[in-house]
Amino acid sequence: MSLSGKAPDYIRSIHPYQPGKPISELAREMGLDASRIVKLASNENPLGMSQAARDAMMAACGQVGRYPDGNGFELKAALSSRLGVGPERIALGNGSNDVLDMAARAFLDRESEAVYSEYAFAVYPLATQTVGATGVSVPARAFGHDLDAMAGAIGPRTRVVFIANPNNPTGTFLPGSQLLAFLARVPSDVLVVLDEAYTEYLDDSQRYDSMAWLERFPNLLVSRTFSKAYGLAGLRVGYGVGSAAVIDLLNRVRQPFNVSGVGLAAATAALADEEFLARSATLNRRGMEQLVAGVDRLGLTWIPSAGNFLTVRVGDAAAVNRRLLERGVIVRPIGGYGLPEWLRISIGLPEENAAFLDALAAVVA
Ligand SMILES: *Cc1c(COP(=O)(O)O)cnc(C)c1O
Repeated sequence: MSLSGKAPDYIRSIHPYQPGKPISELAREMGLDASRIVKLASNENPLGMSQAARDAMMAACGQVGRYPDGNGFELKAALSSRLGVGPERIALGNGSNDVLDMAARAFLDRESEAVYSEYAFAVYPLATQTVGATGVSVPARAFGHDLDAMAGAIGPRTRVVFIANPNNPTGTFLPGSQLLAFLARVPSDVLVVLDEAYTEYLDDSQRYDSMAWLERFPNLLVSRTFSKAYGLAGLRVGYGVGSAAVIDLLNRVRQPFNVSGVGLAAATAALADEEFLARSATLNRRGMEQLVAGVDRLGLTWIPSAGNFLTVRVGDAAAVNRRLLERGVIVRPIGGYGLPEWLRISIGLPEENAAFLDALAAVVA
């Protein structure tokens, strides 16, 4: 048998994560001018990064000959005082993706199951499959998590439940009261991973304080990221907050230097720049209004979104996507999620949103 044939079945059957198409790739393929391409495909912050984070990053570049602080002391201290939890309850990740992966590796094995929702973030099945565990996908309700059904899907082999709030790629949102009621139903020996990658974009009326729940639910792990509202997607910094016992386990499977020194420095500075975060949230809110108004004008259906993206029904999304690419607009088809008629569009700058809407109008007309 060939070498690759010797890899476990559960590895060979993995479908790799499909990232958004890079601008440089589209420019090459279509012979387009890269500077005129609009990329609204990866839920990145259209403002880029905060100047304070950029300055800290540049200063840290001088130190890359040395290994970073493997414990991330300063970033954890800053997060600790911001979140009101001790640093022993924080694990840093190479993006929050890394935190999700660490949770899977720490708690799942080939005998156990992870529960997640249909249409939930693609990394949950991936992280589950990588360790040979069984994924239990629970049918969605109105494109979002059906928490009753998810509670019902928890069995004796369940070790982890993944929840994205807001969810990507659908943007659906669960109020804090529903999450709290769900946590109360989950057995205390099942880890609930609450992925809050977009939490900074929530309206005041939607906010809930998951940090306050950690005391009552030692089986809760909240993951967050600097990739979205903080604008540091390329630096790969995320974190998980949980009980000291859960964090201790994550640290055992964590790679020793999983976050770069440049990433640590930028994230610490980004956390302190509240003005940038507020500006990003305001820009997102206006951009969301602009996109919703635009797709309404085209008579298209969309899913109300609490994130920095909007998911719209366009018919044959693969075909529409191809024609948008020809016009230099990159969005995200989500056929891989079982939504072949839908496109996910990240909120951009006003002119980028307008360029997308113009291209879409031309394509679906
Ligand atoms: C983008 C995203 C993440 C994490 O991204 P990282 O860059 O790895 O921090 C996690 N969960 C969801 C739902 C996301 O959309």
